[in-house]
Amino acid sequence: MENLLQEPHPLETVLISRRFRLENSASLATFLANEGFAGFRKALTMTPDEIIAEVKLSSLRGRGGAGFPAGMKWSFVDRKSPKPKYVVVNADESEPGTCKDRVILQYDPFRLIEGVLIAARAIGSERGWIYIRGEYRYLIEHMNAVIAQAYAAGWLGKDIQGSGMNFDFATQSGAGAYECGEESALLESLEGKRGNPRLKPPFPAQVGAFQCPTVLNNVETYSAAPDVILKGGQYYADLGTPKNGGTRLLCISGHVNRPGVYEVRLGMNMLQAVNALAGGVWKGRKLKAIVPGGSSCPVLKAEECDIPMDYDSLAKAGSMLGSGGMVVLDETTDMVKLLSRIMKFYAHESCGWCIPCREGTTWLKKILARLDDGVGSVSDIDTVDQLAVNMFGHTFCPLGDAAAMPTMAIVRKFRHEFEAKLQSASQAFVPAPGTRSLPIVK
Ligand code: SF4
Repeated sequence: MENLLQEPHPLETVLISRRFRLENSASLATFLANEGFAGFRKALTMTPDEIIAEVKLSSLRGRGGAGFPAGMKWSFVDRKSPKPKYVVVNADESEPGTCKDRVILQYDPFRLIEGVLIAARAIGSERGWIYIRGEYRYLIEHMNAVIAQAYAAGWLGKDIQGSGMNFDFATQSGAGAYECGEESALLESLEGKRGNPRLKPPFPAQVGAFQCPTVLNNVETYSAAPDVILKGGQYYADLGTPKNGGTRLLCISGHVNRPGVYEVRLGMNMLQAVNALAGGVWKGRKLKAIVPGGSSCPVLKAEECDIPMDYDSLAKAGSMLGSGGMVVLDETTDMVKLLSRIMKFYAHESCGWCIPCREGTTWLKKILARLDDGVGSVSDIDTVDQLAVNMFGHTFCPLGDAAAMPTMAIVRKFRHEFEAKLQSASQAFVPAPGTRSLPIVK
């Protein structure tokens, strides 16, 4: 994240990341000296309905992948329910290509606490957790220390800053499962059970953690709330495009000259992000394709990338903004190998609960491995596509779709690379003396 040690790029709009570059940016003192908790203080003067209305006005959409409007999610919680209401933070950032929630936790963790307090005030919650992926173990200790400081300074616990509001907050560790990034599987895991997804509806806003109404958003979404409240929903909405408010952190990785985490307004042109922010494709090579928002998002060919980056524009282009993990691929990228690698990941991460995903990812992994080795058949290419088609929309949770979507996109847009691989393996094949067999079977 070298770019976070330098001045922001002129094309960045730093809101969430505006304290990242300050000295001791993660300290409570730095936070308080730089508008820390100002949004929460303002929220204390507002009614829960006013807070939710402001978040709705902002067009803030969930930054974890699905892009669901945050204000609407908060409004679904029945505040009159006699049950306790909970606020849960999804810090199970495991989508390949994504590394921005951890940057918030590292560089400005009190911002998250402030956002959580605003959400708690909006739904009448007195308790919450941050669920941190097992691979971020080093951040659990860090967040425990941050939470302890917040308690000591009266920003968590009883009668916060004399406001009469109570809120307890704690960390909970995941065990390193991609599946637990799905909200209902996360809640199961939070409760100490195996991280299998739940049947929905009911959604967490009605039946969430420990069967109680729960708001569940990811780190970046809560971290946007302080500015939404402090500067106003309209201000935030105007930074983006219609129905796609604000800024977001973009993790640009892959074949670029300046990989890093950049904060951009929603709607920034994708090629501009690659060329201006990330310094263009490395080694003077040409762009082949972009994975726009993490490995589950359908890949876009170079000629499809001249588009605004917001949820709706990406959906129109047949892909997704996802979790903001943009992976840039240069002209030398072996797309067969890329898909084979992606599928190894999803087959490994499938929880095995439902057959289309468990069997589908396993067979895709096997077939793609042999296609990558050049020892498959042309009909294998069609089988890969058909397997993905049969998985899509037919699995218990979105992991099945997450495996199917990149598969369909890569195999359809780059079929010629699969065929060329088989062809070159066929030409390189030297039959053993006395045999005439070839590796390609039509
Ligand atoms: Fe488990 Fe995959 Fe089914 Fe999700 S889609 S429940 S990860 S087997």
